[in-house]
Amino acid sequence: MMSKNNRVFHSLAIALTISASLGISSLSHAATTVIKADALVDVNNSKVLDSPLVIIENNVIQYVGTQGSKAVPNDATVLDLSGHTLLPGLMDMHVHLTSDSNVHGYRRLKISTPRSAITGVKNARSTLMAGFTTVRNVGAPGYADVALRDAINDGDVLGPRMYVSGPSIGVTGGHCDNNLLPFEYEAKSEGVADGPWAVRTKVRQNIKYGADVIKFCATGGVLSKGTKVGAQQFSFEEMQALITEAHLRGLTVAAHAHGTDGIKNAIRAGVDSVEHASFLDEEAIALAKEMGTYLSMDIYVTEYILGEGEKAGILEESLAKERTVGKRQRTSFTTAYEAGVKMIFGSDAGVYPHGDNARQLTRMVRFGMSPMEAIQAATMHPANLLGKSALLGSIDEGKMADIIAVKGDVMNDLSLLENIQVVIKDGVVVKHDR
Ligand SMILES: [Zn+2]
Repeated sequence: MMSKNNRVFHSLAIALTISASLGISSLSHAATTVIKADALVDVNNSKVLDSPLVIIENNVIQYVGTQGSKAVPNDATVLDLSGHTLLPGLMDMHVHLTSDSNVHGYRRLKISTPRSAITGVKNARSTLMAGFTTVRNVGAPGYADVALRDAINDGDVLGPRMYVSGPSIGVTGGHCDNNLLPFEYEAKSEGVADGPWAVRTKVRQNIKYGADVIKFCATGGVLSKGTKVGAQQFSFEEMQALITEAHLRGLTVAAHAHGTDGIKNAIRAGVDSVEHASFLDEEAIALAKEMGTYLSMDIYVTEYILGEGEKAGILEESLAKERTVGKRQRTSFTTAYEAGVKMIFGSDAGVYPHGDNARQLTRMVRFGMSPMEAIQAATMHPANLLGKSALLGSIDEGKMADIIAVKGDVMNDLSLLENIQVVIKDGVVVKHDR
């Protein structure tokens, strides 16, 4: 997937040149762009660099230093972002771009897979405009996420770099099944599988149809009908088979898990990230530390579910579950953070509106992290989880030019990241509000 992403369909300089109607002749030159700003958040060294100078050639960052430390090439396009702070493009490791946050519960039954793909086009754009240049899409019916990823990579639609799972894998009647209709309708989600070999087959099928990552459900969930959030789904044997198969094929695995036993068994079976991770205990935290498992805890979404969920069609039983889960999850977040578990930014946008992803950053600070740590959880740590730290996750030489800029003192107020002025993805300025 990265080789496709690397392809330059418009360099920043070319795009600016065309918009300025300076003619096509400059297209033959190497496209160099120089960015000047007030500050740059250096996530690798946990510090802020004043008066930065960033030189980009095509879509790759070639130089990062302070202004005056290097001569600006004569033919470079200069992007003067005085008053702005530069940050690496944000990365959200838990989204559902093909889901509409106004369509929950029984309303979802009316949505076809092609319709959800078109919803994804709208949501991909709003996610990118919000400064999220990379997302991991964990669960989409009908491989609509694969189609959306490919359309973005082909340059047909605007959106973040997407790493996608295809359909989530889960047990019959579990959180990743569709339990809304009675028996005679024979409704079943396409990721349903029971037994070690059946789950291996689902992993192979998802890879066949384009998945970059495998997602499965290890416990019940809040938004599914008739599941218990605390109860494990899949036996340990099934989890082990699924994760072994995915790792064999070079893919990482994300497990949806709220309940303590499901979390622990998914970690013991070698899962790469636990999503939600609501009911952590001491042993679960110790296991995550020992195994190097990432926790992706969506601690903002509870505010949306309890505030807007009923209007959006969320079932009453789901609202009742959220009332207990949300509070407990925030306590778990603080405990896991204090214990030094690896944590990544995952919002579950799709349950709440796409483009509002960054609202979770201030909550991560409220429940324990420093602003720098919250930014690192949404940049360098996800790049590590994806195995892309050589290309993504920080503004450093040799990395892809995924850069955002925001006005004001962002390190003192992360809510500024809810309104990004400049978004550059793959060397292209896709947003510049003045
Ligand atoms: Zn989710």
